[in-house]
Amino acid sequence: MSIEYPVKTPYLQALEDLSIALSTSEKEGISTAEASIRTKQFGLNSYKSQKQKSIWQMAFEQFNSPIVYLLLVAGLVSLYFKNSLEAIAIFIVIVVNAIIGFFMELQARTSMRALKKMDVSYAKVVRGGKELEIASEQLTIGDLLLLEAGDVVSGDGRIVFSNGLQVDESSLTGESFPVFKTSNIDNEKLESSHALNMVYKGTAVLNGNAKVIITGIAEHTELGKISELVGRSKSTKTPLDIKIGKLTKKLIWITLVLILVFVITGLLEGRAWLEVLKTSIALAVAAFPEGLPIVATVALAYGMLLMARKNAIVKKLSSVETLGSVNVILTDKTGTLTENKISVEMLSFPDQEFHVSMKNGKLKFKEDDIEKSKENFDFLVRIGTLCNNAPVNPDAKNQKAFGDPVEISLLLLADAAGFPAQKTVSEFERLSEIPFSSESKLMATLHKANKSFFVSAKGAVEKVLLKCSHIQSGDSILDLSAEKKKEILSKAELLSASGLRVLAFAYQSSDTKPDEDYLKDLVYVGLVGFLDPPRRDIKGAISECHSAGIKIVMITGDHPMTALNIAKRVGIAEEQDDKVIAGSELPDMAALSKEWKGRILSTTVFARTTPKQKLEIVDVYQKAGYIVAMTGDGVNDAPALKKANVGIAMGLRGTQVAKETASIVLKDDSFASITHAVAHGREIFQNIQRFVIYLVSCNLSEILIITILGFLAQGTMLFPLQILFLNMITDVFPALALGLGKGDLTVMQRPPRDPKLGIVSNRNWLVILIYAVLMSGAVILAIFMCRFYITSDVKVINNVAFITLASCQLFHVFNMSSLQSGMIMNEVTKNKFVWLALLLCFFLLIVVYFFEASREALNLNVISGQAWLIAILSSMLPLIFVQLYKLFRMQKSQSQQSTKNLNK
Ligand code: ATP
Repeated sequence: MSIEYPVKTPYLQALEDLSIALSTSEKEGISTAEASIRTKQFGLNSYKSQKQKSIWQMAFEQFNSPIVYLLLVAGLVSLYFKNSLEAIAIFIVIVVNAIIGFFMELQARTSMRALKKMDVSYAKVVRGGKELEIASEQLTIGDLLLLEAGDVVSGDGRIVFSNGLQVDESSLTGESFPVFKTSNIDNEKLESSHALNMVYKGTAVLNGNAKVIITGIAEHTELGKISELVGRSKSTKTPLDIKIGKLTKKLIWITLVLILVFVITGLLEGRAWLEVLKTSIALAVAAFPEGLPIVATVALAYGMLLMARKNAIVKKLSSVETLGSVNVILTDKTGTLTENKISVEMLSFPDQEFHVSMKNGKLKFKEDDIEKSKENFDFLVRIGTLCNNAPVNPDAKNQKAFGDPVEISLLLLADAAGFPAQKTVSEFERLSEIPFSSESKLMATLHKANKSFFVSAKGAVEKVLLKCSHIQSGDSILDLSAEKKKEILSKAELLSASGLRVLAFAYQSSDTKPDEDYLKDLVYVGLVGFLDPPRRDIKGAISECHSAGIKIVMITGDHPMTALNIAKRVGIAEEQDDKVIAGSELPDMAALSKEWKGRILSTTVFARTTPKQKLEIVDVYQKAGYIVAMTGDGVNDAPALKKANVGIAMGLRGTQVAKETASIVLKDDSFASITHAVAHGREIFQNIQRFVIYLVSCNLSEILIITILGFLAQGTMLFPLQILFLNMITDVFPALALGLGKGDLTVMQRPPRDPKLGIVSNRNWLVILIYAVLMSGAVILAIFMCRFYITSDVKVINNVAFITLASCQLFHVFNMSSLQSGMIMNEVTKNKFVWLALLLCFFLLIVVYFFEASREALNLNVISGQAWLIAILSSMLPLIFVQLYKLFRMQKSQSQQSTKNLNK
């Protein structure tokens, strides 16, 4: 049957008509086979991706830079003066440099694409009567979409069924307040983008759940229609881009000033203007760090790909840099610090308590006789089955995708206890649900069985008790006294203190249908203690953060005692620590006293917090100058994730809203992955810093030499092409290799980086200057030695200067290891890319020297072995000098350390 698409006014049609028109079923959806036919017919549910630069455009852009223009001028000038060899050589350099740039950009683009592929969103649908999770782009017309709190709606659709559905439509309307939605025909609102019986792509489900028939996908959604906003994500500059831009500008200014001084003094001295022009071009080429932005992009993209392989998918480029400055991580507990493999461990009834174990689907009580609490046990199992949204009889594959582990464990308990969940669910028809939320911390459902009604409720103990007036004790129902409540609370506290997650269970049974607010006068049944052990790798990851100067704070919705127990076990709190702040203790954060601020900043465990309080704690930390990373999973965590400097969402259990808001998504939800991400973030920044120092010191050495030779020894002056060769070919490969390297082992033993610092700190500038002086010193030394021992032929001297500088810069790459990481086996010597780059560069030097044409273009001559020896030996001097200095510093700091240890 052919479907009229785009669907016209779906919000005005009767549901039956709409189902017929879209050839779908309100219960079973469309079949999987039909879905793939429709996907072919209507296309994928994705926007045509943002117009990417074509390969040609990318190639062309390599030539679109001031330095290339300058070189073109230089080439044309050479042509004008009939120096065609030089002109050809300049053009070759331009092309080779463009090819290098092109491939680097291509590599960065491939990394970014691979990253993008990992960031897929999913939608839950019913197809052929079965619940499935599909990639959102596979969603098609007529699909029956399932929505629950935390989902981002994947397509436009008409609501078939809804239960307390509240949606945030700010992505569409700009107004961020919850909109209540129902399945009724919407008579008042006729505007297609505001119908109350429709949900729209890109909006977020805040509360409740719903079933929706998809009526519009991709461009044919309300969001798609605002096509201006879609698919054209602005390419905003990251702080790193800005810093690199600033640095480049600084270098350009330095060069301009130098050129000006050079031209004026040159002309005043009466030098030939052509010579002055050539030297000026050489200077400009020497100073301009062409390779810098592209090497930075490659390093960043490659680093991010490595991060993704270690389970941290970076969505916001700038967060890579911010990660290196993070000095506090606010983390949730369940699933991040713990396994989230939850099992029922304890049952606590008013008269009895049981340790429970389940082996091969069989339930075992450590204590024998459950008879006295049989009634309570049966009720508890029934409540656990009914007040539950995990799919009954879940097939193993789908468990992870659909169920809350607490609820899955309750279904397993029911099955093991001989009350198959499927049977209970079919006997008790669900009439409505009060969904769980992190604020209310409880959930309830209303059911009908034969002629009676049954309310089941479960949740945080203190919240459930507030709704209870009676207690089930054996087969009688008694009044629940305040004293008994206290007793239950302290029992819960005891269980929590042993690290269990504790939930209370209650019910109400009646012959008449309760009113809408059925969460009252409940009968308390008992407590369940769930075991959720800490993750295995967690202790190491936390102590790694501590030694990296990063504070870890747990903020959880769970009970304070459970929180404290787990915090101690994973190393967030000290063994003797009993400091934990419960959400209810926190004062009004708008007018926080100094004392409270201090208390908050010195506490590492916050429990029973609401999402709003999470946001406020982030604020307290930020105002105290901290750079905050914050984890979150729920829909209500979104504001805190946005506010944190780095928002980290959980890939497995996180809601789509959290994932879309966060700047990093963890594929495995594990805290250890945050530690890896921080280490990688620091590593990437360190790499960028390293090659910037490398490139800039090489450039500066060239400037120094040109200036010195320009004033002192005109005849031996380096030729523009020689500089060009050094700067555009041989510098770039080692720099790139540094950008792709692994960080040194001490990267997580240092304090976080001050975010206010630029890429190159003042101290770094000093280091750059020293390196440049050392390298130019080596060249001057080689010139003197050549003159003294070999010849005063300016051509030979020039060649010695060129070879010395070239190899000096190549050896200089080994100076880039950090002070702490040793001389021989360090992160630079272990970096295979560095060795490859050096091999390539020396090979290129030899090739250039080997062919007459290139030799001529670079003004190279066949020089004697002695001259070579002088050049190579002098070029090693800066490396030897720097390594000796590092050795001296290392020994000094070791002796300081041992003195400190002795004094202790
Ligand atoms: P974290 O923030 O560390 O992940 P959490 O998962 O314990 O902590 P919430 O999910 O907000 O935080 O849960 C808070 C409390 O609500 C729990 O301690 C529990 O008492 C109760 N609770 C959790 N899940 C459910 C559920 N499915 N039904 C009813 N109550 C629940």
